[in-house]
Amino acid sequence: MVSPPGYAGAPRKGHLVFDACFESGNLGRVDYISDFEFDLFIRPDTCNPRFRVWFNFTVENVRETQRVIFNVVNFSKTKSLYRDGMSPVVKSTSRPKWQRLPAKNVYYYRCPDHRRNYVMSFAFCFDREDDTYHFAYCYPYTYSRLQHYLASLERRNLPYLQREQLGLSVPALTSLLLSSTDHLSPEKEKKLVFLTARVHPGESPASFVCQGVIDFLVSQHPVAQILRDHVIFKIVPMLNPDGVYLGNYRCSLMGFDLNRHWQDPSPWAHPTLHAVKQLIVQMSQDPRGSLEFYIDVHAHSTMLNGFMYGNVFENEERVQRQAVFPRLLCQNAPDFSLSNTSFNRDVVKAGTGRRFLGGLLDDTSYCYTLEVSFYSYMTAGSTAPVPYTEETYMKLGRNVARTFLDYYKLNYLVKCKGPTHIQRVISQICNDGMNCACRTEFRTDSHLGCRVTRKPFIFKCQRNRVITWIFI
Ligand SMILES: [Zn+2]
Repeated sequence: MVSPPGYAGAPRKGHLVFDACFESGNLGRVDYISDFEFDLFIRPDTCNPRFRVWFNFTVENVRETQRVIFNVVNFSKTKSLYRDGMSPVVKSTSRPKWQRLPAKNVYYYRCPDHRRNYVMSFAFCFDREDDTYHFAYCYPYTYSRLQHYLASLERRNLPYLQREQLGLSVPALTSLLLSSTDHLSPEKEKKLVFLTARVHPGESPASFVCQGVIDFLVSQHPVAQILRDHVIFKIVPMLNPDGVYLGNYRCSLMGFDLNRHWQDPSPWAHPTLHAVKQLIVQMSQDPRGSLEFYIDVHAHSTMLNGFMYGNVFENEERVQRQAVFPRLLCQNAPDFSLSNTSFNRDVVKAGTGRRFLGGLLDDTSYCYTLEVSFYSYMTAGSTAPVPYTEETYMKLGRNVARTFLDYYKLNYLVKCKGPTHIQRVISQICNDGMNCACRTEFRTDSHLGCRVTRKPFIFKCQRNRVITWIFI
């Protein structure tokens, strides 16, 4: 309870009661400034004070029509989507659906009262005395929510879904592996797709995307049925369950950013990561299967849209092949941005799953980080950013899942049924999304459908850059 300084009596209505002592909760301290203004401090990640971004707390004992200003004063990041219109999410007992606060009530600025730190202030008017109000950085997705979701999947007794315990994190929370079984004949090589999410615990949108992938893959959608016949999907929906449980932003209970420890994870300090890495290494050496995709799902705190990070290689053809999946995804997901997608080999990213596995797996494999904005997306025709909802995050996941069919059709793993030859003229202009912007125009006639060529078409633009062109 935060009451005025010197006040010692019983709490009165309007003496706000803050709580973050629940799963994924985070609030470290509240300073009373006036009856109408409070400074809020994010609790740093456990064992790692460098990270302070995720907050998630409740407020009760409010007075009807009580107007307040909350200042979140100790963010560890300065660049923020608050500048672009992002706002915290809120719900209350009588309105249980999360909503984003109106952007006009949110201010992000350097504050002279807080050593010129960046402060995010928001104004809020409580309207029902009996309600408990719940505020968060973004839509929470807790460990328990995942467990309930997985339990509901298991109750459906799907013949193509298996759930295994991968390992236990330090406080003994389970990291699970979901696996789709295949119907291929044993002598045929199996294609494997490996997906992980929530290595960074504060990046809750990653869980909605991951659930969207799973929902699609277990569904009766014809594309999902074909995919299950040809590809095994292995999914670890929560790589850092202890960090999620505790309400950390980036680290595990012991203060490790697990996405910087892929090179040498320790079984006692990074047990879930150690287990995942062992499994992936084992799969990559198994001659009966071919691990083609590794995708690690994250959320991004400064960029809009969904987009990917990939690896760069010396071999130009391999570089071009890396661009195929993001390009196909862009066709399926209106919120996915090819121009935000980039390929790099930064030294600081060396311990990430995407970089490490890019070096470990053979040259027919693809490793990506899939990022989705904490805030919103712009589509081709939109003039203003569209804020993401839980539903649109899940939709991105469903679109990621169905893109695998386009990819495997292109690579002749999945054959089309019946003649679907369509003659169509396609033209495309060399633009930023193609990693060049010389505006060379390419035109060609092509048969689409079954008669896609096994290899993508390769063109050279005015700047002599190789541009891959794929047909779907
Ligand atoms: Zn991340």
